[in-house]
Amino acid sequence: MNQPSISSSQDANPLVEDWTTPFSVPPFARIKPEHFMPAFARAFESHASEVAGIAGDPAAATFGNTIEALDRAGQLLSRVSGVFYLLASAHTDDALLAIERELAPMYARHWNAILMNEMLFRRIDALYSGRGDLALNAEQQRVLDRYHLMLKRAGAALDPAAKARLAQINERLASLGTDFGQNVLADEQSYVLELEREEDLAGLPDFLRAAARAAAEERGRHGKHVITLSRSMVEPFLQFSQQRDLREKIFRAWIARGENGGATDNKAIIAEMLELRRERARLLGYASYAHYRLDDTMAKTPQAVRALLDRVWVPARARTLADRDAMQEMVQAEGKNFSLAAWDWRHYAEKLRKARYDVDEASIKPYLALDEMIEAAFFTANALFGLTFERRRDVPVWHDDVRVWEVRDARGRHCGLFFGDYFARPSKKSGAWMDSLREQEKLTGDITPLIINVTNFSRPSEGKPPLLSFDDARTLFHEFGHALHGLLSDVTYPAVSGTSVLQDWVELPSQLYEHWLERPEVLGRFAVHCETGEPMPQDLLRRLIAARTFNQGFATVEYVACALVDLELHLQSEEAKLEPGTFDITAFEQAALERIGMPREIVMRHRPTHFQHVFAGSGYASGYYSYMWSEVLDADAFAAFEESGDIFDAGIARKLHDFVYAAGGSRDPAELYLAFRGRMPSPQGLLKRRGLLDEAGAEVS
Ligand SMILES: [Zn+2]
Repeated sequence: MNQPSISSSQDANPLVEDWTTPFSVPPFARIKPEHFMPAFARAFESHASEVAGIAGDPAAATFGNTIEALDRAGQLLSRVSGVFYLLASAHTDDALLAIERELAPMYARHWNAILMNEMLFRRIDALYSGRGDLALNAEQQRVLDRYHLMLKRAGAALDPAAKARLAQINERLASLGTDFGQNVLADEQSYVLELEREEDLAGLPDFLRAAARAAAEERGRHGKHVITLSRSMVEPFLQFSQQRDLREKIFRAWIARGENGGATDNKAIIAEMLELRRERARLLGYASYAHYRLDDTMAKTPQAVRALLDRVWVPARARTLADRDAMQEMVQAEGKNFSLAAWDWRHYAEKLRKARYDVDEASIKPYLALDEMIEAAFFTANALFGLTFERRRDVPVWHDDVRVWEVRDARGRHCGLFFGDYFARPSKKSGAWMDSLREQEKLTGDITPLIINVTNFSRPSEGKPPLLSFDDARTLFHEFGHALHGLLSDVTYPAVSGTSVLQDWVELPSQLYEHWLERPEVLGRFAVHCETGEPMPQDLLRRLIAARTFNQGFATVEYVACALVDLELHLQSEEAKLEPGTFDITAFEQAALERIGMPREIVMRHRPTHFQHVFAGSGYASGYYSYMWSEVLDADAFAAFEESGDIFDAGIARKLHDFVYAAGGSRDPAELYLAFRGRMPSPQGLLKRRGLLDEAGAEVS
């Protein structure tokens, strides 16, 4: 293969050069879309030749010449893909989106060749069979196990015909997943609800009016107000807008993402993906894709997942129906005679919350300034783990909005950089996530991580401080918990660094972190009024925290419905072969929801046609339950602090650091949890936290 001539000076490619920037951060200003394909070509090639060298090594396999060598390989690829996927999600454009589509099958092909390499598998299999004699430490043992399982699950042990078919399936799935995500983005970008008349703004608090003005401005509609399909605009609009017809309009557009017919419709993509996943699982000897995916999780089986979801569903549904009746009464009391619809839920829930707890979102928001909430997240990390954060302005970033902090541990040692990219903009995909440009490891030197949080908070209007909803603040803490999992990682091998853990464990560090936000020790200190600087009144703070379990029936129902539908979709077995063209995802969704008794007034949090966790790539396919599995763990883990009487208890924090945040995937998660807590958890803590136990603390059934 020809070496692309990208190292010559006339067409220097910053992606493949040494980065002389502070902390070797990518020189974003110099990186252009046209640099990616040549850099990827070179990165794929050098990685492939490294792997060929390992697989074809005439020396007998050792842990060093096989596992360590593999874990060390592919550095250029990690570096180029780190930059690319960050930009393709957080600050994308047509050129990057086109590259993303082109790249998806190339990526799949590249990894297929490695993961199905028979010679490589034989070496790893030999090591695995003789692992008792290798004198490996616990982390090395785990890394060997992971590589062995990864190749086995990719089909390395199959016959050539099956391998060839698997490779085809993987490539096709990669393309379909990319198309799926881009279609959702296109539907989001192409729609805005313009609020033309003054009465269209009725009920909207100042922050939302400001955000609607800023969103209009960004789209060149000066002086207008628009509501986009971003969750942080739609949800408050549904809460506050007094115009029922407009609520219906935005809600319908929001839940129709990916289902609008035409070029961006995802229904046919879903049918094809489900069939390919089913076939893939069958080739690998599993009854269904769900069986295949769950085999490598803490939960292990669909039955275990179903048992947890059912246990939570029953009380959540009961709570929801009671709340619905209370809201329907409010509608009547207002002298209106419509039946509560999905686009009314958030509106009346807000009213009900106000009536029951005397807290409303608009009175809380001025106390939740973005900058203070960031400080609150840092304060918590300091109180628990001794971390300090220093703002850096000399580090390259991909957009002016991005803020950077240098992170140091309790002894003042540098542990990495933290990047925060908080505001929604048209070039950003929706949602909130953690990402990394470089992960911690010690195999190739003392490598410190570059960790990123991306969120879609509404941008304030000129001169106003950015304010968050309580949900936004929770998202900030959640993503920061993931960030700490990356920043505190203290392992040797890249394969098990930071968030490279089993999927139903990965949400533990993030969801656990949310607990601290809700405590007076944190919120009471950082919730100060954005104009007066006054702390949130004690009484409001108390009511806000008391209202935490309010509407949890709804939140649980809209979530569990997604997890159950995700599981059902991937449990379809051999005889239920899906014929693309005949499989109707909308009908499937309806039937599945009917079976579980989904309340008519609630729609899945993510309907299938925009369920990116499951279809934009296969990240959470039959794994959406993971959040709840992790919540069983996080509720139980936080109880350890509560039981001690000190939410920053040093001894517990030390264990939490060692066995959760620093441990990455270096040991089996059940083992890690046992080491942290001394026992395994039960779902009681989760039910209690969601307010789903009856007065006596018993389960509702
Ligand atoms: Zn998360």
